[in-house]
Amino acid sequence: MRSVEEHCRAALALGAALPPIRVPLLEAVGCVLAEEVTAAWPLPSFDNTSMDGYAVRAGDLAGASESAPVTLHVIDDVAAGHLPSRAVEPGSAVRIMTGARMPQGADAVVPVEWTDAGTEVVSITRVPDIGAHVRLRGEDVREGDALIPAGTVVTSRQIALLAAAGRGEVSVHPRPRVAVLSTGDELVEPGEPLDEGRIADSNSFMLMAAVMEAGGLPHRAGPVPDDEDALRAALEREAARSDLIMSTGGVSMGAYDTVKAVLSQTGSVEFVKVAMQPGMPQGLGRVGSVPIITLPGNPVSAYVSFEIFVRPLIRRMRGCAWVDRARVDAICGRAFTSPAGKTQFARVTIDVDDRGVIAFPEGAQGSHILGGLARAHALAVIPPEVTRVDEGDSLVLIDLSPDD
Ligand code: AMP
Ligand code: MG
Repeated sequence: MRSVEEHCRAALALGAALPPIRVPLLEAVGCVLAEEVTAAWPLPSFDNTSMDGYAVRAGDLAGASESAPVTLHVIDDVAAGHLPSRAVEPGSAVRIMTGARMPQGADAVVPVEWTDAGTEVVSITRVPDIGAHVRLRGEDVREGDALIPAGTVVTSRQIALLAAAGRGEVSVHPRPRVAVLSTGDELVEPGEPLDEGRIADSNSFMLMAAVMEAGGLPHRAGPVPDDEDALRAALEREAARSDLIMSTGGVSMGAYDTVKAVLSQTGSVEFVKVAMQPGMPQGLGRVGSVPIITLPGNPVSAYVSFEIFVRPLIRRMRGCAWVDRARVDAICGRAFTSPAGKTQFARVTIDVDDRGVIAFPEGAQGSHILGGLARAHALAVIPPEVTRVDEGDSLVLIDLSPDD
């Protein structure tokens, strides 16, 4: 049997960061920057005021107080987006609004709250420090500075900086287009009546959502019946429009395991048993040049296999700097067993107390138990040589919280 680590490496080796494209700014949200963005101009790009008030020469206001205000002539009035028309001379002030350019000659801004708000002459009751409330050109970013390194996931915060720096377009790695192909004669659409022996196609909806959460662009390519011709046609169609194909079902030892039957013939997909629970039957390779990962049909197996093998590959294709989920140290809150010779990914809920994170196995661990999967917060990774975990033992968890 192949180890989880070995199959992980084989899965990651199927893809690389997709070639960069230039996109309008908002289309970059959630994508990974493929360029180092540098500042074409400084930020702020001119000295301006951070307060509504008066641009002054601080030296003019020596000794100003509530009992002895100093009076200055107001010689100009500047709003944000407009330019001062006059320099501040001794004894004068310019009324100025937040974001407006500082006039020549001024070295400080007096907030309107320290004044009588006069428009011809202004009476000022406090002395500002030199430079008070002045935002200096280049104090945030200097011209030519590296703003954001390549490899950064673009979120609203990077968008703000890119927009401020005048970038209407950026170069990003596109999100991989992922075909989600479920297989099985028993599958019906969620909400449709369940005739005897049929079940809802929960896998493809779960995996569509999981691809979105991983930052990919999923499209539903099934369900496809357990029919070799139908499956061949679906694979051909998807290979023409996907960066990655992911199937579920049809890869175990049964008589109607069509995925295995069809893809074994092409010779470019290998089917292996991976020493893990859940998720033992796995396959990966290519359809034409497009990578394919064939996940088992049991829903919990499909989910865990996605987490361990597909999510890192999607992140790699997105160009992410790291592909793995955060791992968290925890303490076992209730004893449970684990199969010898297999890595177990146990669904656990977590609680936090003064000992740290405590993990509890979430009910039955069968590969069809969707209730427990939905309630779980994390997967506890139990190494192959461990067959029993006791209360108080150390555990390593894969945190399943949503992330970027
Ligand atoms: P298979 O690997 O195709 O033999 O499927 C194993 C188990 O998973 C069977 O109980 C299937 O009914 C179930 N299964 C397969 N595909 C899906 C799916 N898309 N949604 C929910 N259950 C599935
Ligand atoms: Mg099946």
